Amino acid sequence: SHRLANKVAIVFGAGSDGKGWGNGKAAAVAYAREGASVVAVDLNREAVEQTCDVIRKENGVCRSRVADVTNAEQVAEAVRTTLEEFGKIDILHNNVGLAQMGDPIELPEEDWHKAINVNLTSVFLTMKHVLPHMVKNKSGAIVNISSLSAIRYTGYPYPAYNAAKAAVNQLTSSVALQYASYGIRVNAIMPGLIDTPLIYRQISAEYNTVEEMVAERNAQTPMGRMGSAWDVANAAVFLASDEANFITGVCLPVDGGQSVQ
Ligand code: NAD
Repeated sequence: SHRLANKVAIVFGAGSDGKGWGNGKAAAVAYAREGASVVAVDLNREAVEQTCDVIRKENGVCRSRVADVTNAEQVAEAVRTTLEEFGKIDILHNNVGLAQMGDPIELPEEDWHKAINVNLTSVFLTMKHVLPHMVKNKSGAIVNISSLSAIRYTGYPYPAYNAAKAAVNQLTSSVALQYASYGIRVNAIMPGLIDTPLIYRQISAEYNTVEEMVAERNAQTPMGRMGSAWDVANAAVFLASDEANFITGVCLPVDGGQSVQ
């Protein structure tokens, strides 16, 4: 039987740029495969439509919406239309994230603010707009995609990103405590080194060849390989499901053992 039957999930950053299996697209598809109705939100219209196409081909329910997670009005509108159509939101999944290099001496102030807005303020904004409805239902599960880099150096000098992700962990546990008595659970996943299309664009510039990047990321992980977007999505399904009914305020590493290395 389906583990998320009759649930409604809103996934921010569900497009994965329309290329391959990024964390957001895999999460949206994984939720739908477990029976959830999915609202897939992204900046990239074509990409979220592709995510919904995959879900509909598998006879799932998906609506695509375009919104910028750093824009309060657009987040509010995505939440409002979801409630209008489906009547409730059981699962809020925050996948949007942006990693960028940045020696603090060189980093333009606007890039710092962008990193904080995209990685951290977005999580605040989506929770701000979804929580009132979860409170009314006295139930809900929020899954925030943080990063292992929130708690340890994973090989990349991304100070603004790492700082923002560390704050996502603390935001997760704070809100988990504030809303625990309402039956709302708030958890985070800290992916380690994951083999998603985004890394080939964002990180490959730091290596001479793509093969070098892949080999180094595989070698850095105790299990000898990068994770896949499905490793992250499967953890999200569990945290979002009733199987995790007594789990809240947790930041779960999905990292092939890197956090204890
Ligand atoms: P992804 O393929 O899921 O793509 C992210 C999506 O977010 C893209 O479709 C993009 O269009 C969308 N997006 C970007 N800015 C947006 C905005 N302002 N508003 C709305 N949508 C926006 O990317 P991914 O590499 O799989 O990573 C997703 C998450 O996983 C991020 O939070 C990232 O920090 C985290 N993460 C990834 C890794 C990794 O190795 N790939 C490791 C640790 C954490």
